[in-house]
Amino acid sequence: MVKVMSKKLSPLDVALEQLNIVAEKMDLDPGVHEVLKHPKRSLIVSVPIRRDNGEIIVFMGCRVQHNDARGPFKGGIRYHPDVTVDEVTALAMWMTWKCAVVDIPYGGAKGGVACNPKELTKSELEHITRRFTTMLLEIIGPYRDVPAPDVYTDGQTMAWIMDTYSHYKGYRVPEVVTGKPIPIGGSEGRVEATSLGVVFCIREAAKQLKMNFKGSTAAVQGFGNVGWNAANILHNMGLKIVAVSDSQGGIYTPNGINPAEVYEYKEKTGSVVNFKGAENVTNSELLELKCDILVPAALENQILKANADKIKAKIVAEGANGPTTPEADKILYEKGVFLIPDILANSGGVTSSYFEWVQNLTREH
Ligand code: NAD
Repeated sequence: MVKVMSKKLSPLDVALEQLNIVAEKMDLDPGVHEVLKHPKRSLIVSVPIRRDNGEIIVFMGCRVQHNDARGPFKGGIRYHPDVTVDEVTALAMWMTWKCAVVDIPYGGAKGGVACNPKELTKSELEHITRRFTTMLLEIIGPYRDVPAPDVYTDGQTMAWIMDTYSHYKGYRVPEVVTGKPIPIGGSEGRVEATSLGVVFCIREAAKQLKMNFKGSTAAVQGFGNVGWNAANILHNMGLKIVAVSDSQGGIYTPNGINPAEVYEYKEKTGSVVNFKGAENVTNSELLELKCDILVPAALENQILKANADKIKAKIVAEGANGPTTPEADKILYEKGVFLIPDILANSGGVTSSYFEWVQNLTREH
């Protein structure tokens, strides 16, 4: 029996613990288990840029390539102040498992730059991205490692990566990244794909549980690409969205909000907080609200041993990567909560990325 640890776990501790639990359950070959504990390659770089005010500033960046036994490394690039090599290694490991779960011919990787995009101008972000890409030139490529967007990066970031990579190669290489804008080789539906996958998983889970899907209530943590689109799709399918949140905090109303109105409000004010007609809640309070479906769609380590027992939702669909620790997972399981793990729930994004890559390789749209 694998012992579930009680100290505060880092994302890498969580990933390794999950690997141990699964290895024991599936009687995994000890050699394969050992290989899967370690990334194949980690590249840590210092990314210097000159800020708009002339100051030179240096950011830590890294790309971790976990495993490519099934195909080129694949995984997003995250810009966030809390990025660490440890976190990126865990995210890379989850990518390996995710691509295997949905059986697409990719391995797993992840990248990140420890910066706060909210304090940087668009031109500074462009400098960081182009410089970081030149530092990754030797290890990325259409058949080596194909990055994609993640937290606080988007189609524009991918366009800068593609342009920088293509510039060095001397010809256009759209297949070096996915999640690009449509005019330069992106795929229609890629932006919503992760959330659509989350929603399809919830719909199927509701069938299993014989729940009235359309009559359900949902709370969504994180109002970025995954969270906003998930809330919007669920709302358009007739479900009631009782709470949403972003990094500043959350809002709750039992009557339900229209995510499109909240989106417009956030565009103007920078946050969902203080939305008219709703009560402000913290991100941790949101997790414990009365609702049928909970979608954590922000960061890792949200549902922990300390709050797992307070979760009231019947279904937890992990839009985010690694939101639940193994200890919390066990508590939810024992409570009868139906948890849809990240490597399945949010795999629609990488699946759609795979189609984008294939289309780019064959110059199809
Ligand atoms: P995003 O940058 O578009 O949005 C992130 C959201 O999280 C923002 O609304 C932000 O305000 C919020 N946030 C940040 N810190 C927070 C905090 N401490 N508490 C609550 N909210 C916070 O990022 P995204 O692409 O939507 O990614 C969200 C999660 O989904 C990440 O775990 C990511 O790895 C995962 N994911 C994304 C994709 C994709 O296709 N974009 C695919 C699979 C998994």
